[in-house]
Amino acid sequence: MDKNELWDAVLGELEVTLSKASFTTWFKGTFIASATEEEAMVAVPNAFAKEWLEKKFAGDIAAALKKHLPRLSVLSFKVATKEAVAAPALPLPIPALQSVSVPAAAPVAAPDRTGGLASEQAAPRRVDLADTLNPRYTFDAFVVGNSNRLAHAAAVAVAQNPGTVHNPLFLYGGVGLGKTHLAHAIGHEIRQRHPQKSVLYVDCEQFTSEFIQALRSNTMDKFKKKYRDVDIFLVDDIQFLSAKEGTQEEFFHTFNALHRRGRQIVLTSDRVPKAIPQLEERLSSRFGWGLVADIQPPNLEMRVAILRNKAAEKGFTVPDEVVAFLAEHARSNIRELEGILNRLVGWCELNSVPPSLEVARGMVSGFLGKRDLRHVSPTQVLTIVGSFYNIPVEDLISARRTAELVLPRQIAMFLLRRELGLSFPKIGQEMGGKDHTTIMHGVGRVERELAKSDQMQEELSTLREKLFAG
Ligand code: ADP
Ligand code: MG
Repeated sequence: MDKNELWDAVLGELEVTLSKASFTTWFKGTFIASATEEEAMVAVPNAFAKEWLEKKFAGDIAAALKKHLPRLSVLSFKVATKEAVAAPALPLPIPALQSVSVPAAAPVAAPDRTGGLASEQAAPRRVDLADTLNPRYTFDAFVVGNSNRLAHAAAVAVAQNPGTVHNPLFLYGGVGLGKTHLAHAIGHEIRQRHPQKSVLYVDCEQFTSEFIQALRSNTMDKFKKKYRDVDIFLVDDIQFLSAKEGTQEEFFHTFNALHRRGRQIVLTSDRVPKAIPQLEERLSSRFGWGLVADIQPPNLEMRVAILRNKAAEKGFTVPDEVVAFLAEHARSNIRELEGILNRLVGWCELNSVPPSLEVARGMVSGFLGKRDLRHVSPTQVLTIVGSFYNIPVEDLISARRTAELVLPRQIAMFLLRRELGLSFPKIGQEMGGKDHTTIMHGVGRVERELAKSDQMQEELSTLREKLFAG
């Protein structure tokens, strides 16, 4: 297996686990620059993709590589293109493919702390595969809003007084909403406040595979020592215990051993304990002993706050209007929100253009798999708004100030601005010859309404869906 085949195998594996959008965005043009049994260097086409792969996918990449390079301990990334390193393809100095018998322990990779695109040089940055806490997932970097306030407060309390307040702390919520982030933040905070305490973070899959491995290799003593001796035990995605009887049994004993001695346990899951199918009752009841706190999807205001925060964290300046546009479109979760921001900024950096509404619009259609709104005409927007509110288009663009016409009219203005990117004077023209200040006023009003009214947010998303659906 040469480098190319190895990389193809890795890509093949990642492709099934990642969304199509992230896969094509981040893995295009990547290849293995060099690999030995212990070290692998992945080449990526630009600094932006490099940062993103290091931060987000190093763990996945390492796990996939380890199936072929079981002794891999260092994974690094560098910016390079195929042409630049078109050296003769060296055969890999590794024994042939080791089938899949090696457990793919997939530690979450931790990039170094220097961060930032400015520091990107040709020198590859090493990813420490041993540290399982992502340095970016701290309380400082966590935006708090109504949707996660309780979970955040509980996590902070636990980090301040481990083993005493909520034990276990059970955090649950949908994908990409910050469960892993909070679990890591607890780990960081405890390491800082209580350096003498040992912190162990694993995801449930890793616990399971280590357990199975320990059984097979007769090393249960070692396994027990590792897990039953920690002060802080953070287990991510505990729903994956479902239907794994043997692992549940072991987890039960681990839980008891720790809990009895007042060691802190933190669990995350995509649902409440009782809703995890095929989970023993004695476990689901224990999971509810402490505090069960949920994380809900963020509302618009919070999505805006998160985007601002992420942009600032990376030192990017993104205009408010663009932030608002992204927040209005990427609604499902924070991971998606972050993904689209990164893509936007990455694209702008590559092309040396400032992030603008225009670029954001192109990006949203590509990223979220929606229709490219640059091909939608103003008339289509007016027709959709008119039919949604049951108002003839002539009335919508007329000068009549009847109460039931005003808001729909302003919504049309807003959509023409946000979705089609028309200038205020141009919108004035499209809407029956109105003054540009009238348009600015209308757009502003909808913006304010949106910030405070859930119903308005709902109506606009429905309208947008109609627009995108064509
Ligand atoms: P989950 O484990 O719930 O699927 P993650 O913890 O992996 O979600 O979060 C997905 C991404 O969103 C991460 O990059 C994380 O940093 C970010 N994120 C989630 N919640 C917040 C928040 N409240 N503030 C800032 N970033 C967040
Ligand atoms: Mg997670």
